[in-house]
Amino acid sequence: MQPTRRQFVTAATVFAVSHALLPRVGFSQQKKPTRVILLGTKGGPRLGEAGRSNPSTLIMINDVPYVVDCAYGTSKQLIAAGVALNRVRYVFITHHHSDHNLDFGPLLYNAWITGQPTRVDAYGPTGMNQLARDFFNYLKFDIDTRMSDEGRPDPNSLVTAHEVTKPGVVMTNDDVKISACLVRHPPITQAFAYRFDAQDRSVVISGDTTYAPELAEFAKDADVLVHEVMYLPGIDALIQRLPNAKRLREHLMAAHTLPEDVGKIAAQARVKTLVLSHFVPGDDASITDAQWSEGVRKHFKGRVVVGRDLMEI
Ligand SMILES: [Zn+2]
Ligand SMILES: [Zn+2]
Repeated sequence: MQPTRRQFVTAATVFAVSHALLPRVGFSQQKKPTRVILLGTKGGPRLGEAGRSNPSTLIMINDVPYVVDCAYGTSKQLIAAGVALNRVRYVFITHHHSDHNLDFGPLLYNAWITGQPTRVDAYGPTGMNQLARDFFNYLKFDIDTRMSDEGRPDPNSLVTAHEVTKPGVVMTNDDVKISACLVRHPPITQAFAYRFDAQDRSVVISGDTTYAPELAEFAKDADVLVHEVMYLPGIDALIQRLPNAKRLREHLMAAHTLPEDVGKIAAQARVKTLVLSHFVPGDDASITDAQWSEGVRKHFKGRVVVGRDLMEI
């Protein structure tokens, strides 16, 4: 549905007012440090029972939230991390597996229903625009009702989707430069890692990838690299438990990274801190932190953090 002129004007006015209210201050003494908070650390779309939510990572730059990936549960995890949903401003999707985008639409909806004061800019591979529109269409009855009954703006007018189709700089603003690297996650061809270069810190999120030397180049000298990880003995145990999982092992081996290779990437990139996240399998509580990091440490001598939900780095 096309927004009416009144709705456009309303949205534009809200946007202008909210920007006018932002204090215009010098950067140096007012900047807030860049924070990285793991919202969900369990790789894959199944809902786990071992206390890990599905993948999402929050980067707070000068107190503005940047949400990277939106698996099921992202809205609740944002609230748990202390971020009100009407503050959502930037969303990044690494690739279109559902453990990275299932709650993209719901997050936009939740921001809208919480009264977001500015538009959301959403970045990700081809299909971002359609995901947003299709989700609003899925909820057409509710949205139309609330627009006429409660006088809400059209949520379509509050989302700008940007499709990332090649590596390079994705966006810049006064606080951060964000760039994308094409990683290796077959059979998906558009799978990206994102790098956030803020004034005080640089943070790289690997997305889903098998061993990709180009990612080491992309993450060169980063302060923090959040990398996915897969533990082979855990995979074999998982396959035993799941029915119809014959091809799953093949997919996992081709598309994800073993601890030794994560260590190689971190060492080649010379990052300061390596954070393991997107654990596969992420719901096997018998795998210890030492087991997750043992292979990594064979190659990487820096700081290794075995991620947990809501951990801040
Ligand atoms: Zn994934
Ligand atoms: Zn994936």
